[in-house]
Amino acid sequence: MKIVFITPAADIRRNSIYRLGGSFYGQKNSITGPLILGRILKEAGHDVEVYEELYKDLKPENILDADTVGIYTMTSNATRAYELADILRNEYKKRVILGGMHVSGFPEEGLKHADQVIVGEAENIIVDIIEGNIKEKIVYAPPVKDLDKIPFPDYSLLKTPCNAANVMTSRGCPFSCIFCTTSRMFYPYRQRTPDNVIKELEMYKKMGFKYVNFEDDNFTANKIRAKEILRKMIENKLVFKETFFFGRTDLANDEELLVLLRDAHLNRVLIGIESLNQKSLDYIDKKQKIEDIEKAGEMLAKYKIKLIASIVLGLDYDTVEDIRNSVEFTKKINAYQLQPAVLTPYPGTPLYEQFEKEDRIIIKDWQYYDMMNVVFQPKNMSPWKLQSEFFHAVKSFYSFSGAMKIFKLFGFEAGMRRLGLWIAANFGKTFFNKQSEKENGNIYHELYELSDSSSSELPKSSFKLS
Ligand code: SF4
Repeated sequence: MKIVFITPAADIRRNSIYRLGGSFYGQKNSITGPLILGRILKEAGHDVEVYEELYKDLKPENILDADTVGIYTMTSNATRAYELADILRNEYKKRVILGGMHVSGFPEEGLKHADQVIVGEAENIIVDIIEGNIKEKIVYAPPVKDLDKIPFPDYSLLKTPCNAANVMTSRGCPFSCIFCTTSRMFYPYRQRTPDNVIKELEMYKKMGFKYVNFEDDNFTANKIRAKEILRKMIENKLVFKETFFFGRTDLANDEELLVLLRDAHLNRVLIGIESLNQKSLDYIDKKQKIEDIEKAGEMLAKYKIKLIASIVLGLDYDTVEDIRNSVEFTKKINAYQLQPAVLTPYPGTPLYEQFEKEDRIIIKDWQYYDMMNVVFQPKNMSPWKLQSEFFHAVKSFYSFSGAMKIFKLFGFEAGMRRLGLWIAANFGKTFFNKQSEKENGNIYHELYELSDSSSSELPKSSFKLS
């Protein structure tokens, strides 16, 4: 049987400006789920292809020979996933199966667009579903107990560009911030053994990959295990040019860990700083103090580990001033990149429940649930003002002088990437301003209309982003 897996990308992410920014932000890659399921199906005798739409639009007429199409959903790509699923089922008569984070939360919604929906982790049931031995419309899959038993992703199945291998050394996170989806989808927190991770890295070294991303939500959650993996990477010469990972500020308290991270070239990390307001950090249950954030900035600079600082915009205790303070802080510590994330009430999270109860969700079109668009009524400003602050943060952080600093601190390649992001940020703002002038079916127009027009924070004549 021929099976095609697709990870769709929302309209905005298939836009050429977004793709340009993405090419400076990081390396092209593919989420591991479909590549692992693909290997399991290939070993069971099936023919498999995998596509990441983020890098190349998928045309249904190019996969006419598929018997079954598996579509991976996150909330931000759900609208596009349903669109593709409807076309493939209705026009091309394909059998469509939906899986992933979004339909795991909304299986009934997913079933309106698919023959079957998988809720949870599919590794142990995928063959039976594909071969028709499991006939339920909604299939509940329990979490995989022993992650070492899962086969490694098969990159030979991938038909879209890729130059970084993704490795998931654990699933879930022992913390539970109120807005986080992955710590809830991948529950409970489970870890692979260091030896199993090392075997996978050996495979990527042999395949010639220069870049690796550790996809774990929190690679350094268990510092003893993280250090063992890093030591083995160094001993076995499994050091890549650059390895990206997600961490928490608490990694800065362990200097031995920082030395190993530097020596194993885990030299680009995304950390959720979230806010420089302690009340906000407590509200989201981050279990993080302002001192932890300051120390992380200082220690990462000392070990020359490039920081992607993620801040959340629109928390209930944050004002415009708090948001701007956080952005200024990331500039002061010479963060390599800024990831401003508009607070987003993802379904299945305590934040979603709170906003539903308070009737503060104003937009329910899933394609806007991408942390770049405001979909709720903030407490301390209008929706339009918060949207404007997102662009203000990008514009204020990405500057020519900031790029020059990065050249000096991290060298030519890092400086060029930062310069590229500055150019993309400028293009992006112009593009979004043009979009906001279109009245019908445009989220910016809708946000403006939803905001209180008597407020002094709204521009008088037109609604250009500040
Ligand atoms: S620390 Fe990060 S991964 Fe863990 S729950 Fe919080 S946001 Fe999610």
